[in-house]
Amino acid sequence: MSTFQAPKGTYDLIPPNSATYLAVREAISVPLRNSGYGYIETPGFENVELFARGVGESTDIVTKEMYAFETKGGDKLALRPEGTASVLRAALEANLHKGGNLPVKLWYSGSYYRYERPQKGRYRHFSQVGAEAIGAEDPALDAELIILAHQAYRSLGLRDFRILLNSLGDKECRPVYRAALQDFLRGLQLDEDTRRRIEINPLRVLDDKREAVQEQLIGAPMLRDYLCEACKTYHEQVRELLTAAGVAFEDDPKLVRGLDYYTRTTFEFVHDGLGSQSAVGGGGRYDGLSEMIGGPVLPSVGWALGVDRTVLALEAEGITLDIPAATAVYAVPLGEEARRVLFGKVTELRRAGVATDFAYGGKGLKNAMKSANRSGARLALVAGERDLAEGVVQLKDLASGEQTPIALDAVVDEVRRALG
Ligand code: ATP
Ligand code: MG
Repeated sequence: MSTFQAPKGTYDLIPPNSATYLAVREAISVPLRNSGYGYIETPGFENVELFARGVGESTDIVTKEMYAFETKGGDKLALRPEGTASVLRAALEANLHKGGNLPVKLWYSGSYYRYERPQKGRYRHFSQVGAEAIGAEDPALDAELIILAHQAYRSLGLRDFRILLNSLGDKECRPVYRAALQDFLRGLQLDEDTRRRIEINPLRVLDDKREAVQEQLIGAPMLRDYLCEACKTYHEQVRELLTAAGVAFEDDPKLVRGLDYYTRTTFEFVHDGLGSQSAVGGGGRYDGLSEMIGGPVLPSVGWALGVDRTVLALEAEGITLDIPAATAVYAVPLGEEARRVLFGKVTELRRAGVATDFAYGGKGLKNAMKSANRSGARLALVAGERDLAEGVVQLKDLASGEQTPIALDAVVDEVRRALG
């Protein structure tokens, strides 16, 4: 193994591609910040108990994918595999729900960790931007979140994604359905593991990707036939609000999602150019989660969008984001005196908000001009002893090659004018 190798299932974000990741995070957060969501940041690890209770003891995330460890002090912790449980924990700890101002709307962005089999679009370290609206039961809130994710993807120029929508029912109707589904599943030819899953988390069996399982699921009872009146009405309103907003979706009665805490509205954003890792984001309502982690009743809804897969989706659609060059002006000093003077001008330009870089390391003219071109700058400032003696520097347009002397004490104004 090479010494310089990131751990299995991880990769580094490096320039220039890293700029796309920043732009994606930004694009996803803009509609949220514009809709009353405040930024929250929580630790990269939590007590393992939070995820065991919050995400669910029977989920793949907790049983197989979590990086859990014990510290030297004996604390049992886990790297966060997802954001919702942490955000809710933090909101409860800070009593945000007691301000009389529900829902509490929060957004976050960060790294998440799952011990998975690495493949394209599936990593052990990945990043998400997420949003949670805590403490209100209102179909408009579910619709809002879906509309904002849709807006974010559209603002990135994505087109080949679809929204899958379902309702998972609530504590009235879900248990009735669960029992009916269990009855049905117990009659099938299934392996040991799956039979165990029938008893702990039967809805997950519907999610089984294997053909041999899917074939047998034809004719399984469907949750939508078991929804109580309240859930039906709620779901119908979410659908109407989305339709009124011009956001197209597909009803997917088999969409169950991997987390135990979802109730009622669940949805997934899938992209058709990504092969088997097609889910770019997902979420739903989690009316019971607060109680599951020991809090009060706080019906809530949220989503998380995967940044890595969103970047892959951009690639799949051939979209290059319009990212401005990091450097607008590149300064090239010829000689010691010019180095001192030009460095001062670089500082001045930066303080004036002009993205400026400098040829460090005493490079010769040829090498320095190569660096200038590579930086993406539109302008170079070149100065040698003779220029300084005349009180000027040469302003060079790097595209046209055209060069004009400008007064040393007017550099900021002249550069601004030239940049337009
Ligand atoms: P999948 O079914 O593909 O495993 P998931 O249901 O586990 O996805 P969520 O927990 O809903 O995913 O996370 C939301 C989003 O985070 C996903 O849609 C995906 O874009 C991203 N994501 C989840 N796990 C990974 C991973 N291991 N690597 C990269 N991105 C991931
Ligand atoms: Mg997963």
